[in-house]
Amino acid sequence: MNEYLQTSDPDIYAGGDLIEYEHLITKKPIPGQIRPNAVIGGRIIAKNALGYKIKFPKLLNCFATKLFDKSIASVGVTEAIAREEGFDILVTKQAAKSKYVMMEGIPLS
Ligand SMILES: Cc1cc2nc3c(=O)[nH]c(=O)nc-3n(C[C@H](O)[C@H](O)[C@H](O)COP(=O)(O)OP(=O)(O)OC[C@H]3O[C@@H](n4cnc5c(N)ncnc54)[C@H](O)[C@@H]3O)c2cc1C
Repeated sequence: MNEYLQTSDPDIYAGGDLIEYEHLITKKPIPGQIRPNAVIGGRIIAKNALGYKIKFPKLLNCFATKLFDKSIASVGVTEAIAREEGFDILVTKQAAKSKYVMMEGIPLS
């Protein structure tokens, strides 16, 4: 499958949970099995089937969830993966509030 979501037959497309995605930072394949990837992939497939040439973006692997009173969100790679990949990293802590519409105003730390 190429970046236009075409399979080895250019008239057949694949997206959603069926495919692997490329991580923007590590350049390695990741599962990326969440709804937004399937929805965006579906839109890109529909447009490309109509003649557009739109690439599916590489993923930063974002997620956000809530467990009881705890909100958890992540983007990019973990510290452990960054070290494993050989990145020279700086670790810091930052308190902020979520702007994500489903978790707006929730403190993140
Ligand atoms: C329990 C659970 C919780 C999740 N929670 C979240 C969440 O909170 N947030 C989030 O972003 N994502 C979540 N996901 C992931 C999200 O549901 C999937 O990433 C998304 O639905 C993938 O869309 P899709 O179109 O690729 O596949 P699907 O939604 O699985 O659609 C595939 C469709 O193909 C049909 N099908 C299968 N075989 C055939 C066949 N032979 N012929 C015809 N039709 C067929 C299936 O019946 C299904 O309707 C969750 C998934 C699960 C299982």
